[in-house]
Amino acid sequence: MAASFIDKARITVKAGAGGNGCVSFHREKYIAAGGPDGGDGGDGGSILLQVDDNLSTLMDFRYKRKYAAESGADGQGGRKKGRDGKSLTLRVPRGTLVRDEATGEIIQDMSSDAPFVLCRGGKGGWGNAHFATPTRQAPRFAKSGLPGVERAVVLELKLLADVGLAGFPNVGKSTLLSAVSRARPKIANYHFTTLFPNLGVVYVDEGRSFVMADIPGIIEGASEGAGLGHDFLRHIDRCRLLVHVVDISGSEGRDPVEDFEAINAELRQYSPDLAVRPQIVAANKADILSDSAPLEALRERAGALGFPVIPISAATGQGVQELIYAAANALAQLPPVKVYEPEYVERPPQVDTSAPVEIMVEDGVYLVEGPWLQRLISNVNFGDYESRMWFDRMLREAGVFDRLEELGIHDGDLVSMYNLEFEYQH
Ligand code: GDP
Ligand code: MG
Repeated sequence: MAASFIDKARITVKAGAGGNGCVSFHREKYIAAGGPDGGDGGDGGSILLQVDDNLSTLMDFRYKRKYAAESGADGQGGRKKGRDGKSLTLRVPRGTLVRDEATGEIIQDMSSDAPFVLCRGGKGGWGNAHFATPTRQAPRFAKSGLPGVERAVVLELKLLADVGLAGFPNVGKSTLLSAVSRARPKIANYHFTTLFPNLGVVYVDEGRSFVMADIPGIIEGASEGAGLGHDFLRHIDRCRLLVHVVDISGSEGRDPVEDFEAINAELRQYSPDLAVRPQIVAANKADILSDSAPLEALRERAGALGFPVIPISAATGQGVQELIYAAANALAQLPPVKVYEPEYVERPPQVDTSAPVEIMVEDGVYLVEGPWLQRLISNVNFGDYESRMWFDRMLREAGVFDRLEELGIHDGDLVSMYNLEFEYQH
């Protein structure tokens, strides 16, 4: 097969690091000792995701798998704040699920228009100007910026459409979609012409419309992973209604009832949910139907499952309007398209705290730094009580508080760790 449709991609994304704070003192001729004027580092850029309805595949992510946002610039003298890093927005088709690569948990279902922050940029460090107080007039220290969050995610497309077209190849699904919407899928008299899903908006009447998806043809054995099928069934997974297109003319020597049963068996095997999804059966190619027996037989079988059958001709337009009304009426009774709730739970990062941290005492401030501490701080959500408690325990277990005590810290002294500042309490 030539170009295949890309509906799954693994990428790594990294937000920008915060710039470092600056140590600087105001200098002017004839002024002996100016005040501290080191500016703060700029914040790192974040990685955002945004739905783009012009996209229907994840093709763009196939060749470029690594994305990084810009880092913040370092602060400068004269209280000049470093420039913030530019955020990077990745555009994805509507219905893209973002999963954590390691656990497979859903981080976000990109179904709405709201941008989603996938990785927050690192905060910039404070410059020494920030630390000046009446009793500490010449602080000689500034803070490093924090690294940006980095993560590996899997993007998985589960198209967002109200109606999904199901059926064997060549039964006329693409023809139907192009007859009822402005979508222009490729139509040809051979199998598997549809390699990309196509979405079309169907305007029913004043104020009523729905989205219809034409996916590559389901073939027998698809649910066992033979051929294209399995992956593509995922796209109709969250359609509210299926329009099951059957070639009623038997133009390829097929039996319509057998086809209908075979597709249903595939749906059942793929997911029990999909098997009970409401269907409208479109008996297509009615324009070249000479005998009414196949239609009656199909009506009987579909009727037994509670599915209406509407004879249509996607080619001549016969019955198509009736089908659209039937679909719109059915949709009005059905629940909205399923949106997946995020499942991802933030876990404490794995950090090896055995390496000693570096503690400097400057102007009565205890400055604590070290690679693992930096990693820890950039990964802890300080808005969350549990996380704060956990962070406190990590510091205690790593012996940081013991070291501070050895250095003579007193209750009320200032402890500064990157963008964290707190008064020491024994
Ligand atoms: P898909 O594989 O299900 O998407 O089928 P296509 O839409 O590509 O159509 C396959 C072939 O059937 C094409 O040659 C179409 O022109 C033809 N076809 C589609 N609908 C009709 C119809 O209502 N009547 C007739 N006579 N031919 C049709
Ligand atoms: Mg097609």
